[in-house]
Amino acid sequence: MFYNHIMFLENISLILMSPCIADEAKIRFKAELSRDIAEMMPYLNAVIRNATYNPGSNTIFYTQGVRMITLRGKSLAVSKASDLTDAHKIMDFIKETVNHAYENKDKITPIYERRVRATALDIFSYLPRTNCKKCGEPTCLAFAVKLLLSELPLSACLPLNNGTEYADKLKEMTELVDAMGLVSR
Ligand code: SF4
Repeated sequence: MFYNHIMFLENISLILMSPCIADEAKIRFKAELSRDIAEMMPYLNAVIRNATYNPGSNTIFYTQGVRMITLRGKSLAVSKASDLTDAHKIMDFIKETVNHAYENKDKITPIYERRVRATALDIFSYLPRTNCKKCGEPTCLAFAVKLLLSELPLSACLPLNNGTEYADKLKEMTELVDAMGLVSR
């Protein structure tokens, strides 16, 4: 018998690839999903065990090994991927995860609440890592902990926010802070 099986998410297309800001030995990339998966976010929040979910921006952030993955609407952003082959593997895996969650929606209890499962080390790699203490903390790692706990805003890291030296890091970090629902100012 022939079944006309229609997938929820048909494909994910690579749109941009460049050296990773957090780790120069790796790559980062952006990709576009063939449809908006906003309705699936609370379900993905339930099935991706280490997901950080921000209902405000309806964004999921999670790590897979060293890779840092952010999903929102039709967009996918990944940092610390190994290479192009790895990028395609990640895109295939995400497509499979989204479609599997969609097919099993009836069996999954969606989680709508904000969840933060990211670690201070996830944040640390995007900081200047100079331990200059200008944020009032003894080290960049200590600042990352406070940022994660929403006890300090991203703007408290003065070197990151002033001048052009860390402009790329600031852009990535701002997206990350927004994805996690942390305090930027
Ligand atoms: S101000 Fe920024 S660079 Fe300096 S210690 Fe704090 S987090 Fe690190």
